[in-house]
Amino acid sequence: MLKNTGIPTRDDLKQIYPSAERLAQGPVAIIECFQRIPCNPCATACRRGAILPFEDINNRPQLAAERCNGCALCVASCPGLAIFVLDMTYDDDNALLKIPYEFLPLPKVGATVAALNRAGEKIGTGTVIQVQNPPVFDRTAIIHLVVTKDLAHEVRNIMVEDEANEA
Ligand code: SF4
Ligand code: SF4
Repeated sequence: MLKNTGIPTRDDLKQIYPSAERLAQGPVAIIECFQRIPCNPCATACRRGAILPFEDINNRPQLAAERCNGCALCVASCPGLAIFVLDMTYDDDNALLKIPYEFLPLPKVGATVAALNRAGEKIGTGTVIQVQNPPVFDRTAIIHLVVTKDLAHEVRNIMVEDEANEA
C-alpha cells in the first residue's frame, strides 16, 4: 500500500509508466508522484510542455510522453525527488537512469555504486557516467547511472559504498 509504505505498487506504477513503445524510442521522464499535493515546479521547469499545465495545483502531474526528450530539468526541480529519466536505448544490454540525489559526498564519475530499489534495498550495482550539479539545480544533483536492463525499472536510488568512489 503506497499510503502505508510510501512505495508504489505495480498497479500504481502501471498508471504512470510510459508505454513500451515510448520507452523503445529513447529517454523519457517517469513521474512517480502519487499524492495530491499543492506542487507544480515540474510543469513550470519543462520547456517542452511535456508536463501538462495544472488546472488545479493539487492535481497529479500528467506527462505527454511524446513531447519529452529526457532532458531531466524536471528531475532537478521536483522537491519530492519523484521524477526519474529512463533511457532503455542506451545500448544493447544496459539502460541509463537519471536520478535525483541530495546526499554528500556525490559519487565520482566512473564509480561503481550500489543500485537501490524503491524500498532502499540493494539490488545490484551501477556505473556513474555523469554527475550534474550546477547552481541552478539548487543542490539537487542528477546522477547518470548505467544499469543492466533487467534492473532499470526497479533502481531508483544509489549508495556510495567506498570512499574511493566519493567525489
Ligand atoms: S525530462 Fe525534460 S522534456 Fe521530459 S518532462 Fe522533464 S523537463 Fe520535460
Ligand atoms: S514537482 Fe514533484 S512532487 Fe511536485 S507535483 Fe511535480 S512530480 Fe509531484
